[in-house]
Amino acid sequence: MINRSAERAYDKAQARVREYYGDPASAFLCTRCGDTAHTWALDHRAPNAILDYRGRRYSEEPHWYFPLCDRCESLYATMGPTAGPIFKRVSTFDVLPEPDWFADTFAHSDDSSTLGATAYSAYRVWSDAEGLSPSEVWSRRAFYARMEERGIARRKTSNGVVLLRLKLKSN
Ligand SMILES: [Zn+2]
Repeated sequence: MINRSAERAYDKAQARVREYYGDPASAFLCTRCGDTAHTWALDHRAPNAILDYRGRRYSEEPHWYFPLCDRCESLYATMGPTAGPIFKRVSTFDVLPEPDWFADTFAHSDDSSTLGATAYSAYRVWSDAEGLSPSEVWSRRAFYARMEERGIARRKTSNGVVLLRLKLKSN
């Protein structure tokens, strides 16, 4: 019989790490190579690590985790405790710059305006590329409100809503 709480302990530990550092591992740079990290790795030297029923090692002390990319993580797992010297653990990690939905896709423009539908489509392409979950993606109304915060006014025309003095970056 499977112990359900043991089954969840590993995931809970991962969630605790995410909470501790405030972001998923992908918001950080790999401690070893500086690429985008993908996973929270547990330091082999963590003193109170626990093996779950599937043999996965976890810790209830989030500060023993550090961000690694997939490549370095598998290397770290393979090398085991001998990996210590080449995996320099740091107490603070470099944080990736926050993706900016506006700057990534749009620009202010003195001589052009953009149809609301077109702008919203461009935003959705951006949100897909960023891997936002459906609940994080703004509705069109919320999108217009965020545009307003960025100083973009809008007007209703016979073609639909137009966002004034705005252009797509690719244009
Ligand atoms: Zn790496």
